[in-house]
Amino acid sequence: MSVVVYIETSEGKIKKSSREAISYGAALNSGEVVAVCTGEATDEELQSAGLNGAARVMATNEPLATAEAAASALAQVVSSSGADMVVMAKSSGSGVIAGRLAIKMDAGTVPNVVALPDTANGFRVRRSIFTGNAFAVVEVKKDKKVLIINKNTVDIKQDGGQAAVERFSPELSEVDNKVKVTGVDQATGKVLLPEADIVVSGGRGLKGPENWGMIEELAEVLGAATGCSKPVSDMGWRPHSEHVGQTGIKVSPTLYIAIGISGAIQHLAGVNSSKYIVVINKDEEAPFFKAADYGIVGDAFEIVPKLTEAIKAVK
Ligand SMILES: Cc1cc2nc3c(=O)[nH]c(=O)nc-3n(C[C@H](O)[C@H](O)[C@H](O)COP(=O)(O)OP(=O)(O)OC[C@H]3O[C@@H](n4cnc5c(N)ncnc54)[C@H](O)[C@@H]3O)c2cc1C
Repeated sequence: MSVVVYIETSEGKIKKSSREAISYGAALNSGEVVAVCTGEATDEELQSAGLNGAARVMATNEPLATAEAAASALAQVVSSSGADMVVMAKSSGSGVIAGRLAIKMDAGTVPNVVALPDTANGFRVRRSIFTGNAFAVVEVKKDKKVLIINKNTVDIKQDGGQAAVERFSPELSEVDNKVKVTGVDQATGKVLLPEADIVVSGGRGLKGPENWGMIEELAEVLGAATGCSKPVSDMGWRPHSEHVGQTGIKVSPTLYIAIGISGAIQHLAGVNSSKYIVVINKDEEAPFFKAADYGIVGDAFEIVPKLTEAIKAVK
């Protein structure tokens, strides 16, 4: 048996979340891990998927523009490799592909997976529900499965070798090709919030938009994206694209630094799959401290500039 892992790329590089999906596929110990790439990447970049546990990478000769086309390409690799399991990282695109693929494979699909499956008695897997506020264990009864994993579900394996890269041209129908990408304009030169490995986020405790310079400076020294709480974007202090939470962007960085944010449940719903949370708040009773791995009780206007200087000094 083999496991097929769908991998996404950004600016020619395999996304970190996809490297995690490959590591998850390898940790299943269900046979050869075959990664499938329908985006843009050099063979050299794709070979590095071996580090994370892929034995082979099947990459399309041309990048595919639609979810239909990606699902068709994946289905063809699933069929040729005899795989009964597909793993992909949660992203804006993967959910759409997973649904289409599951129909083609006649598979059971589980989104928001947060752990390796328990196969001792059937196939049970833990997934997050209610925007991350609870967990459910679901049993998949279909022989074939499609799992969409949340970020920070497994550690990224780094000790593999090089993967063999094979190029192929999937058979596509007219429906698969109904959209063609003619160019890509990046929204911003800064680190994109949904993909960011580190996020520095500010709340109403920062008093006004004129004080965001220190947030941006800290983000810059850390190579982080900037985020904010909902009231901050509602008041127009920051753009809505930075609003984190239940009604905004859900982030899963390795490090989330919350500055002057109280930690309301709706905000936590967007950050609770972060690996480490650091909270800076002058109120020691702020609810965010309960969700924090590290907390600093104090005035953000004193702490943040010192923190930035200390990080600069270390660098
Ligand atoms: C349906 C619904 C959906 C919602 N969705 C979201 C969502 O997606 N995202 C979201 O963020 N909110 C959401 N909210 C709003 C949420 O309930 C909170 O009101 C909001 O998160 C509070 O934002 P805040 O923490 O920035 O502000 P506040 O609650 O005003 O907290 C400010 C914090 O800053 C601290 N502070 C003040 N001065 C300083 C200082 N000098 N140094 C350090 N700390 C300081 C204070 O102690 C306080 O803890 C939603 C609400 C509803 C009803």
